[in-house]
Amino acid sequence: MASISLIFVILLLAIVVIVVLAILRLRRGQTVSVPVCGNCSYPVRGLPTFTCPECGSDLREVGIVTPTTRRPLPPLVLAIIWTLILPVPAMVVSVVVIGVVPLVQETTMNVHYLAPSSGAYAGLDLESHSQNTVGSGIPIRPYELVFALRMNPGPAGDMKTSTMRMDVSSNRCSYLDAAGKPVEGSTGLSAETLRAWMAAAGVDTKKPQVQVEIAEIMSTIQSLLAGTMPSTGSIPFTNRGGGTSSNTSPPRWLVPSLGGFWLLVWLLGIIRIVWKRKPLPV
Ligand SMILES: [Zn+2]
Repeated sequence: MASISLIFVILLLAIVVIVVLAILRLRRGQTVSVPVCGNCSYPVRGLPTFTCPECGSDLREVGIVTPTTRRPLPPLVLAIIWTLILPVPAMVVSVVVIGVVPLVQETTMNVHYLAPSSGAYAGLDLESHSQNTVGSGIPIRPYELVFALRMNPGPAGDMKTSTMRMDVSSNRCSYLDAAGKPVEGSTGLSAETLRAWMAAAGVDTKKPQVQVEIAEIMSTIQSLLAGTMPSTGSIPFTNRGGGTSSNTSPPRWLVPSLGGFWLLVWLLGIIRIVWKRKPLPV
């Protein structure tokens, strides 16, 4: 990653150097060896009047270009130079800023329950999503839990699933019932919410073994909410698996913000070039 940025910066620098050299060459080609009319470039050395004999312009108005005169660069050329040069400091500053802003760690914890002893469904997956600033010392707490219930294959071999999401800060659960109507659990997450969701998906929740499984799932949820993987004990499922994965990255707002900032700087530069080069009203 760092080496790619370095190659990019060197490439940009090379482009800028080439363009600046090309422009300097172009300007050198425009210089003159004798004083000439500012309008038509006709040599005007030793003229007794201020009127150009070639084009008839008043030399006091159109000016005389001498070998030492440097013509101002046209706005378009200035705009191109600005556009090519800006990315270099922008890259360097952005890389420094990204290095200074604390990284955000995204952690996903998964618990998979397979083959429940009740046989009332095929399995259940729990997933917690958490986000915390690296080095803040704040323990990892999930902001969302996702539950996926996998039903037993139907007569046609179809595998139905039902998903319930829980927003941790508001303690609200939502899922679609059998008719596809959204249901919002208003009582927060409880064994009753889980039971109602599973019943809506078609699980026979009256089975005592299902009640035992719900109790086990509830204890797993408590672990996930505390940011820890559940301990393994005697479980009413034939199989339980899962794991934790996390990845650290700069905060999501950082790159768009930097992009917006440099775009604004570029735009202000362009406005300044155009505004400054506007001819004065006569
Ligand atoms: Zn002239």
